[in-house]
Amino acid sequence: MSTITRPTHLLSRPRGVERLVQGQATSDGAGVKLTRVLTQNLQRRLDPFLMLDAFGTDDAADYIGGFPDHPHRGFETVTYMLAGRMRHKDSAGHEGLLTPGAVQWMTAGRGVIHSEMPEQEQGRMEGFQLWLNLPAKDKMRDPWYRDIRPEEIPVWRGKGAEQGALAHVIAGATHGVAGAMQREHTEPLYLDLHLDPGAVFEQPLPAEHNAFVYVYRGALHVGEAGEAGEGEVRRGRMAILANEAGADGVRLVAGAEGARAILVAGRPLNEPIAQYGPFVMNTHQEIFQAVEDFRAGRLA
Ligand code: FE
Repeated sequence: MSTITRPTHLLSRPRGVERLVQGQATSDGAGVKLTRVLTQNLQRRLDPFLMLDAFGTDDAADYIGGFPDHPHRGFETVTYMLAGRMRHKDSAGHEGLLTPGAVQWMTAGRGVIHSEMPEQEQGRMEGFQLWLNLPAKDKMRDPWYRDIRPEEIPVWRGKGAEQGALAHVIAGATHGVAGAMQREHTEPLYLDLHLDPGAVFEQPLPAEHNAFVYVYRGALHVGEAGEAGEGEVRRGRMAILANEAGADGVRLVAGAEGARAILVAGRPLNEPIAQYGPFVMNTHQEIFQAVEDFRAGRLA
């Protein structure tokens, strides 16, 4: 891991790592093996984000069952494919195919029933699903979704001090490049970063926005390069970035093997969170209502 201090040009006080989190192996849907990186106990800390699942396997038995029909209400799901093909269908008659580099952004709103099934019987399947909360006033809005093709996701390439850094800008903006999606209220930033060995990447962030970086290849260093090992984030780990008063962003420096990571940040809603499985509302009463509406067929 490089500890050489390079000149920064965007930030005067980058954030440090508050905590490193190792994902938990679990399964969901019809036996799909995945790693739950952002778990329910971190929802308050990482508000407005509710869940992050990482999946990555060459073994079809780990994913072939897919995610048959299931409901959602009250939030948004953002699925980002790195490898493999996944077909989704929903109760409103929408259908689409996720291919490598594509994103599906779905706003469940008052409710949708959908399936997410692999469109392959062998080969690699890899990607992420992030759950983004909706403000109380939007939880019962009409459902909506957008399939975003890989070529619709802008790519930023670093120059000068950030030579060797590249970002696929899924949401928000970096270095003046607007991402494929923008959202009011939660103002999500979602970047897929590809960093050559030793490459530096800087991103301004409002101090009150909650942020994390999840490394899926190689390793990187967060913050001011300094004491050996401090701030290092290896593959398969999520670093929760500290919301230090006066901090103006995050600075990432790739290790000797380079790194690939997602950087996610957003403005907290600071509203009560009530979750029961695929329903995320503000109160228990609203959860009972969601379950009742689902049983009565009112989500389809
Ligand atoms: Fe789903």
